[in-house]
Amino acid sequence: MPKPVLYIVIPCYNEQAVLPITNQLFLDKLNSLIDAGRVSPESRVMFVNDGSKDDTWPVIKALCEKEPRFAGISLSRNRGHQNALLGGLLTAKDLCDITISIDCDGQDDINAMDAMLTEYEAGCDVVYGVRSKRETDTFFKRFTAEGFYKVMKTLGADVVFNHADYRLLSRRALEGLAQFKEVNLFLRGMVPLVGYRSSSVYYERHERLAGESHYPLKKMLSFAFDGITSLSVKPLKLITWLGFIFSVVSFIAIIVIVIQHLVVPDSTVWGWSSTLCAIFFMGGIQLLCLGVIGQYIGKIYSETKARPRFIISEKTFEDKTENS
Ligand code: UDP
Ligand code: MG
Repeated sequence: MPKPVLYIVIPCYNEQAVLPITNQLFLDKLNSLIDAGRVSPESRVMFVNDGSKDDTWPVIKALCEKEPRFAGISLSRNRGHQNALLGGLLTAKDLCDITISIDCDGQDDINAMDAMLTEYEAGCDVVYGVRSKRETDTFFKRFTAEGFYKVMKTLGADVVFNHADYRLLSRRALEGLAQFKEVNLFLRGMVPLVGYRSSSVYYERHERLAGESHYPLKKMLSFAFDGITSLSVKPLKLITWLGFIFSVVSFIAIIVIVIQHLVVPDSTVWGWSSTLCAIFFMGGIQLLCLGVIGQYIGKIYSETKARPRFIISEKTFEDKTENS
C-alpha cells in the first residue's frame, strides 16, 4: 500500500517570535515520520498565515524557500483561528491523505502524532488529541478552560473534553467537513458531527515556547458562547422554560394579590419594594432572553449572507484548489 501523504496544518497569527523556534520541531517530526516509513516523502508542514500584522508571513516564506517540505498559504486578512485552520485544512484536502492540525506555539506535544498515525492505521478517520494534564497552565486558565467544557456540555454542545484543535483527519473526514457550509465556525464541535470512526490520544500540554496567547478570558468567553449557539438550541429551550416558570409564578401571585385586596382592607399600598423588585427582575430576565434570541438571529443573519469563510491571497506553491 502506498504511504499516506500527511499535511501538518498550522495556523499562525503574529507568531514571528515562536515560528523560528518551532518550525524545526515540526520539520524534525515530519522527517522522522518519513524516515520511519510511516508517511510519504511528499508530506508537508503547511503554515497558514492568518493576516498577521508582524513579520510572520515573510518568516514563513523564507522557511519555505529554504526547506522544500514546508508550504505556506496566506489569508487576505485576519479571520481568526478557526477560519485560518479551516482554510488550511480545505486547501490541504486536495493534496494529501491525512491532515494533523496543531498550533504553532509548541504547546501541544508533537510526539502524540505517532500515536495518532497508529490510530489512523487501525482504521480511524478522526483522532482527537486530548490533554491529559494541565499542570503548566495557570490555575485560572485551567479552571476557566475546564469550566468551558462543562458548560458547553450542559448546554447541549457536545465537544470532546480537553480537546482543542490538535487532531488528525483523514481525507474522507475532510471531505465530510467541507460539506458543512456554515460560516460560524466551531471546528471542535463540527468534527464529531462529521462522524466516522474516531479515537483519542492523550498528551501533556506544555507552556508556550515564545510569544503570547491570543485567547484572554474575554475571547474565551465569546468563543464558548459562539460554540454553544453554533451547536445547540438548548439556550432557546431554557428561556422558554424560564418564561413558563415565571408565568406560573405570576399567575399564583395574581391570585394571592387579588385575594389579599378583597380580604385584607387597606393592604394594597403596602408592597412598594416587592413591586419594584419584581419589575427590575422581570426586566432583567426579559433583556437577557432577548439577548439570547438576538444572538441566534445574528447567527442566522451571517449564515444567510454566506460570505466566504476565508480568502487566500498568496501561496508558496502551485495547485488547483479553490477558495471556499
Ligand atoms: N491564531 C490564529 N488566528 C488568530 C488567533 C490565533 O491563527 O486570530 C493561532 C495562533 O497563531 C496559534 C493558535 O491559533 O497557532 C492558538 O492560539 P493561542 O496559542 O494564542 O491560543 P491558546 O493556546 O493560548 O489558547
Ligand atoms: Mg497556544
